[in-house]
Order: sequence, then C-alpha cells, then structure tokens
Amino acid sequence: MNEAAETSASPAIRLLGVSKSYHKGDEVVHALFDVSLEIGECCMVAIVGPSGSGKSTLLHMIGGMDEPTQGDVIVAGQTVNRLAEQELTRFRRQTVGFVFQTFNLIPNLTALENVALPMEFNGVPKAARLDRATALLQRFNLGQRLKHRPGELSGGEMQRVAIARAVANEPRLVLADEPTGNLDSRSGQIVYELLREIARERTVVVVTHSEELARLADHVIYIRDGQLLDAARAALPASLVVPTGQSTS
Ligand code: ADP
Ligand code: MG
Repeated sequence: MNEAAETSASPAIRLLGVSKSYHKGDEVVHALFDVSLEIGECCMVAIVGPSGSGKSTLLHMIGGMDEPTQGDVIVAGQTVNRLAEQELTRFRRQTVGFVFQTFNLIPNLTALENVALPMEFNGVPKAARLDRATALLQRFNLGQRLKHRPGELSGGEMQRVAIARAVANEPRLVLADEPTGNLDSRSGQIVYELLREIARERTVVVVTHSEELARLADHVIYIRDGQLLDAARAALPASLVVPTGQSTS
C-alpha cells in the first residue's frame, strides 16, 4: 500500500540523462542526447521540434518501445529500461496507450473489435470488453460506426477509434505521435479536443509540428537535434541555437 501511495505522488514521467544513439554504417546518429525532464500527472504536454529532432525516439523511450543507450526512464514509479521482458509487456499493455499518425488499426476488424482487442490481451471477459468498447466509441461520437471496418471510416473517425483503443485499458499515460499529421484541420481539431478531454483523467504526451495545437497544451517541450531547449532558445532560428554542453560563454 505504501508503494501505491508513493507511486501516485511521484511524477508521471521522469527521464534522467537519457541518450539514444543509432549506428548507421560507420556513422553514429545521436537521436537523443542527455535528456532529463519531469512530467506531472494529469496534464497535456506537447513535444515540438523539426523533423528528425528525436520526438518519436523520445516518445518510444517513455512508452517502453525502445531502450535508451544511456540513462533511466521512470514512468509511474517504474524504471522502464530495467524491466524484465514480462513486466515490460505488462507495462506497455496496462500503463501506456499509444496513438500513431497512421492510426495503425487492424483493417479486417471492426471499430468495436479494434477497441476491444487490447482488453482481450489484458484478460477482460468478452461481454465486459464489448460493453466498454461500445461506451467509449459512443462517447467519442462513433456510436453509428461500431460495425464499420477502418477502410469504411474517414481519417478523423479512424483516429478517434485509435484513441478509444489507446484508453481501453485505462492507462495512466497516453502517448500520441503526430496524431493529427494525416488529418484535415477540422478533423485534427476534433482529435485534439478529444485528447484534451482525456488529459483531464490521465497524462497525455503529444508530439506535434503544429504550434497552434501546442498552444492548447499545459506544457510544451521543445526539442532540436536530440536535445531539449527552453522556450526562449527554441524561438531563435536554428542557426543561432547553441546545443547545451557546447556553450561558447
Ligand atoms: P522525429 O520523430 O523528431 O522526426 P526521430 O526520433 O524519428 O525524429 O529520429 C531522430 C533521429 O534518429 C533522426 O536522425 C533519425 O534518422 C534517427 N533514427 C531514428 N530511428 C532510427 C533507427 N531505427 N535507426 C537509425 N537511425 C534512427
Ligand atoms: Mg517522428
């Protein structure tokens, strides 16, 4: 019980000196370099940065989908990069929900089945998971689309199904990687409002290119070349930003 109390008091996400590098032939690519940050419970955080700056890598570290080369990733009191395979699978299934730019719905399953699937993996009985999936889809204004397959839905509808799927197991954390990147502005707006609503109950971390969407977040994390920037530095043109650790002063 003590452990549970501690867990709920700790920040939702803490990164300590996290680096991630990839080898491309002889070349080493530093996707993330010495990133430390803390994100509290129940808010919406936007990660903003140019293409290739490390946004997806950062999100994958938080979600336990990839391992840091260095440093620790602590989510909901668990050091994700030190979990054994089985615990990691449980973490991905129960603690985080992921929303992708390309929706990643299963094409031959209906909207209802797509939303129910993660609950099946989590051992929820069939009747209960169909009830919950139906309620979620109705709440997201998709009550008329339960039996539709992804190919019969618009992009905005697919992303709302994907968000319903992401919250199906009531994760503490929802991670969304450019969730509006493939949507027209009206559908993007609806998806964003949905994420905002979800952020009242759980922590939502959303990667976006859009300053307009980032403005709706409670906190914005700016990233460039694998390093975090504060807002003032991020406002400078790229050519004037001095990476931390290489300051000329
Ligand atoms: P963003 O999401 O901001 O566009 P990414 O996190 O996808 O950026 O990528 C950051 C950097 O890491 C890029 O230079 C990218 O090419 C590199 N990178 C990402 N994933 C891999 C990988 N699996 N292998 C090699 N390089 C990678
Ligand atoms: Mg990306």
